[in-house]
Amino acid sequence: MSESTTSVAGRTRPARPQAVLTVLGRERLSPHTVRITAGGPGFGALRMNEFTDKYAKIIFVDPGLGLTPPYDLAALRESLPPDRLPVTRTYTLRRADTERQQVTIDFVVHGDEGIAAPWAAHAEPGDLLTMSGAGGAYRPDPDCDWYLFAGDESALPAISSALEALPADARGIAYLETSDPGEYLDAPAPSGLEVSWLHRDHPGSQPRRLADALVAGPWLSGRADVFAHGERESMKAVRAALKTRVGQGDQLSLSGYWASGRTEDVFQSEKRQPIGQI
Ligand SMILES: Cc1cc2nc3c(=O)[nH]c(=O)nc-3n(C[C@H](O)[C@H](O)[C@H](O)COP(=O)(O)OP(=O)(O)OC[C@H]3O[C@@H](n4cnc5c(N)ncnc54)[C@H](O)[C@@H]3O)c2cc1C
Repeated sequence: MSESTTSVAGRTRPARPQAVLTVLGRERLSPHTVRITAGGPGFGALRMNEFTDKYAKIIFVDPGLGLTPPYDLAALRESLPPDRLPVTRTYTLRRADTERQQVTIDFVVHGDEGIAAPWAAHAEPGDLLTMSGAGGAYRPDPDCDWYLFAGDESALPAISSALEALPADARGIAYLETSDPGEYLDAPAPSGLEVSWLHRDHPGSQPRRLADALVAGPWLSGRADVFAHGERESMKAVRAALKTRVGQGDQLSLSGYWASGRTEDVFQSEKRQPIGQI
């Protein structure tokens, strides 16, 4: 666990504990998804929660620096040039097994660009994976009458976890936008929940795909519980499509998980500007 502190706006606060895990396995779930299982005693540094969308911030430090985690991030941020600074990438913990001290993370492998996806595509047992967390905010509300899911590949892990938490008699609809017809959903949906796969070529290439399906589709009666996450422009369109439908008493969890053409660092910093707001 890191002992360092970090200074924000003149205040000093303890650095977030870092869990240093060892990669135990890599499995290809589909042409564009790789599952990494990692674990070890470092698991104890993660504060688990009961949310189905629980996520961790994975920390990547330039391997050329030859450092061993946990990292003194505050010191690195002060001393390194901008192009060598540590970066974080946010990933859903598809499974977190406290007894076995293991996490399972499903990475969309979206090409050679980026840091996390190429890392996952080539990770080998024995590699280290450093993260802090867990965050999270959603789990299906058992008092709602029906459930609506909308998302792309990046949201499939969180949607799969939510489906597992639904009662067997739950009803609803899941709109899932993917490139591959064979994309995975590794949790059975309750029989009353219809799964609608929406195909497009490249992630982010059809930002209206989910919203158009939502508008054309039915809106069931009773209190709705909506979980919608994925590419930022797509989520903007989904929010607009839901505006006239989501009413008082309904639950809404909606955010961008990534933005087309932006690294996560740029995407996160734009959230504070009009372009990044959903
Ligand atoms: C709460 C939360 C949970 C998330 N859970 C998951 C998860 O479980 N699995 C998962 O795969 N992602 C998940 N994401 C999204 C993930 O954090 C981003 O996709 C991240 O940008 C990937 O980092 P990178 O280093 O691979 O690419 P970056 O360096 O951030 O980006 C490089 C380039 O790749 C593009 N890119 C980034 N992500 C994608 C993508 N999914 N498809 C196509 N192009 C992309 C960018 O637009 C950019 O042009 C989650 C995000 C959040 C906020």
